[in-house]
Amino acid sequence: MRENALVAELESKLSSVIGDRTAKVLTDSFDIKTVGDLMRHYPRRYMVRGELSEISKLAEGDEVTILAEVFSSTNRPLRGRKGSIFEVAVTDGTDKLSLTFFNQAWREKELKVGRQGLFAGKVGIFNKKKQLAHPDYEMIPDGNDVDAAASSFAGKFLPVYPATAKMPSWKISKCVTMAIESLDEVEDFLPENIRSAHNYPNLHQALVQLHHPADLDSAESARERLTFDEAFLLQALLVMRRNELKKLNTASRKRIKGGLLDAFDQSLPFELTGGQRQVCTEIENDLAQDHPMHRLLQGEVGSGKTIVALRAMLAVVDSGGQAALLAPTEVLAAQHLRTFEKLLGPLAQGGMLGAEEKATQVVLITGSQSAPARKAALAMAASGNAGIIIGTHALLGEKVEFKDLGLIVVDEQHRFGVEQRDALKEKAQRPPHLLVMTATPIPRTVAMTVFGDLDVSTLRELPLGRQPITTHVICVMEKPTYLERAWQRIREEVAQGHQAYIVAPRIEAGSDANADIDFLFGTESSDIASVEELAPRLHSDQLAGLKMAMLHGRLSADEKESTMKAFAAGEIDVLVSTTVIEVGVDVANATVMVIMDADRFGVSQLHQLRGRVGRGTSPGLCLLVTNSLAETAARTRLDAVASTLDGFELSRIDLEQRSEGDVLGASQSGTQSHLRLLRVLRDEELIEAARKDAQDLIATSLDLTSYPALKKELNAMQRNMAVDYLDKG
Ligand code: ADP
Ligand code: MG
Repeated sequence: MRENALVAELESKLSSVIGDRTAKVLTDSFDIKTVGDLMRHYPRRYMVRGELSEISKLAEGDEVTILAEVFSSTNRPLRGRKGSIFEVAVTDGTDKLSLTFFNQAWREKELKVGRQGLFAGKVGIFNKKKQLAHPDYEMIPDGNDVDAAASSFAGKFLPVYPATAKMPSWKISKCVTMAIESLDEVEDFLPENIRSAHNYPNLHQALVQLHHPADLDSAESARERLTFDEAFLLQALLVMRRNELKKLNTASRKRIKGGLLDAFDQSLPFELTGGQRQVCTEIENDLAQDHPMHRLLQGEVGSGKTIVALRAMLAVVDSGGQAALLAPTEVLAAQHLRTFEKLLGPLAQGGMLGAEEKATQVVLITGSQSAPARKAALAMAASGNAGIIIGTHALLGEKVEFKDLGLIVVDEQHRFGVEQRDALKEKAQRPPHLLVMTATPIPRTVAMTVFGDLDVSTLRELPLGRQPITTHVICVMEKPTYLERAWQRIREEVAQGHQAYIVAPRIEAGSDANADIDFLFGTESSDIASVEELAPRLHSDQLAGLKMAMLHGRLSADEKESTMKAFAAGEIDVLVSTTVIEVGVDVANATVMVIMDADRFGVSQLHQLRGRVGRGTSPGLCLLVTNSLAETAARTRLDAVASTLDGFELSRIDLEQRSEGDVLGASQSGTQSHLRLLRVLRDEELIEAARKDAQDLIATSLDLTSYPALKKELNAMQRNMAVDYLDKG
């Protein structure tokens, strides 16, 4: 125990319990400023003393901790690519073991020859040698640091912290010990009944136990409690935000008998699916309320979200308002305009001579349109003559005004941040209704975390008569002749009057814009298929005689637009394209897609891409071409895509391979910085429980007036999120 009776709170400055110099290093390295920040710098794992393994007895795949001495180290560059491998040999007298680190030569400062340390990780075999790749370790401090050694080795469980060269794990451990010694009893913000229902330790216990566990069980229950906290606070915030929205007042946009929507329904050439009908009813009910709708529509690729959105927009126009549709690309915005005009027919010719009285007008606003076209569209939006306004980011521009914006639809939500959504909301006279759509189906708990303040509608069903897409993986290394067969399949489909896509990862060959990716994938730039190399080559050989065109992001908006139009009109047989066609593109006559170097794309991306075929009544075929051999990780992903058409399942596989930041999406960085322990895929049950607890609690105490500590915690969290958000911008 320390002599001075200094008492610290979580909010206290770190320098009040440890030296200024050390505090500064912690701030610089980890942004740790307060005692609370340090307490929440959680150990990654523990080294268990007394349960050490002998190197000679290690077997591949074992999770081990060993005590050993460094006897040599080398840093060598990788052959033929960027980066280096830092390799350290250690021995415990029974055998040798090698430790490897990628691009971390700085560790040489810690892993000095002659020093002892504890090393933990999973045993692998490389070149017949046993090794630990990127092990966690805890060096035993040199003799001149006996104090530190004593304190950090006092317990049986040594916490291993995320560390840097300047701030090694044992030093952090020492600082944490000092912080704990001076820490006053921490007030628990989690309501007592919730805490006891889950049998969690209180907050003070949990924080101390996680750093200094008596045994692994108590570490585990501390971790569980703190993980739950993260889920609970976030859900409480989202539930409250939702309640706030419900309190806002806005114009209700009720469906009108004999209006546009009725006329549209009568002219619709097909029946809505059961799923579409149900979602449309949910939306109609929302729109009829006098507080804004806040709904996410997620759906399987090709499930028909556009019609659902259009029907909502028509209901709003019927009630005298306007609706805006925000699309992520010009290709999509232009396609939406064509689709709407086609579906609405005379109903979109408002203002024209002889048009029906209830007819409206649809306009497009994009960044690349000509000045006169833009001026006309802006005027139509401002006057209210245009009931439906479709646009890209250009919709957010200063000059864009509406007469009475009642509904915002955001297509392909993942391409937009909350900021953009809000920028458009500002243009409405009253809080507008909001419908966001995502083409990438996401697992429930991810939706709950990322979109927790939205109501969720889901379309799983595809329209009747839709033929399933067949997907095959073609490995060029294993079966070189199969690629020829793929080109032949394209010829066959075209001969039957159908159309094809060929997708390549690159616009042009050998551009090294993706050199880093090449390194990760172990391929050379020049090996990767490109649109500009592939199209002419196929055109002069395997696909000679077919009408072909190229589509990629470097073309002007006009070129893209005219190419897409020609393809949609059937004037082009084969479109060779980059992923600009990834989402949304809808040409029902296209039946086959060949994706070159398919291993370069993510699982969800491939699912999206292949969703471009099989959208009509003819079966779709998707061929994934790759050089990856069977049983490699890349090949496993491709086989997964080929094995199922379930977008939810594929999205889960995709997300499992990503970092948590990626799972939540860049626009959620504010949220993410609050999630240290929580993993949205792994912790499903916990998130569900936390959401329920938050809902129940807030139902009994709407403003949390009976829970001041919780309210304080939520306010602090909200403030931090706002700061993160500003930092980012
Ligand atoms: P997504 O959900 O992927 O955005 P779309 O809205 O583009 O899908 O719809 C895919 C295709 O299915 C479009 O050509 C659309 O006209 C058509 N479609 C939508 N609903 C139905 C339906 N109920 N019956 C038949 N075809 C439909
Ligand atoms: Mg779509």
